[in-house]
Amino acid sequence: MSIIVVHGGAGRVSDQNRRSLALEGVKEAVQIGWDILNKGGSAVDAVEAAVVSMENNPNFNAGLGSVVTRDKTIEMDALIMDGSTREIGGVIGISRVKNPITLSRHILDKETHVLFFGEHAEKLWEKYGFQLINPDELFTDRILQRYENFMKDQEMEVDDPEGRKYGTVGAVALDANGNLAAATSTGGVLGKMTGRVGDTPIIGAGTYADEDVAVSATGIGEYIIKGMMGINVKIFSQTNSFTNACDKALSHFKGAIGKAGLIAVNNKGEWSARKTTQDLIFAKLDDSGLEVFDV
Ligand code: ASP
Repeated sequence: MSIIVVHGGAGRVSDQNRRSLALEGVKEAVQIGWDILNKGGSAVDAVEAAVVSMENNPNFNAGLGSVVTRDKTIEMDALIMDGSTREIGGVIGISRVKNPITLSRHILDKETHVLFFGEHAEKLWEKYGFQLINPDELFTDRILQRYENFMKDQEMEVDDPEGRKYGTVGAVALDANGNLAAATSTGGVLGKMTGRVGDTPIIGAGTYADEDVAVSATGIGEYIIKGMMGINVKIFSQTNSFTNACDKALSHFKGAIGKAGLIAVNNKGEWSARKTTQDLIFAKLDDSGLEVFDV
């Protein structure tokens, strides 16, 4: 059996219009990944393609539409992991590549090192024969407006992490050969300090896959890193039901602002989408059909 689950971030989505745009985006992404799995494609190809579709969608905080730092710069993080081989590729703090997950995938396929940061990662993109873009191409009016609001009222954003809405994107999949993969891509947290690295490219925290589980997380990265969420889904699932394992991994750092969500699948095809935030935009597709977040 094959299955794919994608997410478009955790937080609170109060605007109905934005909620439907996000739901459309995750439905489109999960279908793209499913089409690959359905034709016998690999989990790692499926999660990459699903994430690319959301990076290209300005309604998410990844690729086009990434949030900006306090200094109004873009610093995107991404990571992809193939559970069957444990091969990994990831990038930290890049701004001149439209699809950080595809750069990560190239690193997974071509390099012996697994993680590259900033301009060194971007140079690899050129080495692989692609052109760098101007970071301005990733800015959207919506993000610039949110940045202006943030600068006017920084306390609100800091004290109200749910107000950060949604945006980080991720995908987890199991393919017909029983292989698992996970991918996550993000602009990070609006107004983050320049140089701050979130959970997304931290293996075993924001992104993790092996022969048993695949996990992609979203939310306040500092808590996801401290709670080692990805690896804890695996550890807790050895003695708990899959859903309970996901809840335990989430509550490992649950606190006043320990807000997060995750999607996960295991090698039996069980899946879960859990959250401590109000919303977690996700979609799942397998032989039994489509399921989306809808409350
Ligand atoms: N986890 C991401 C980070 O902290 C942000 C998010 O998921 O919205 O960089």
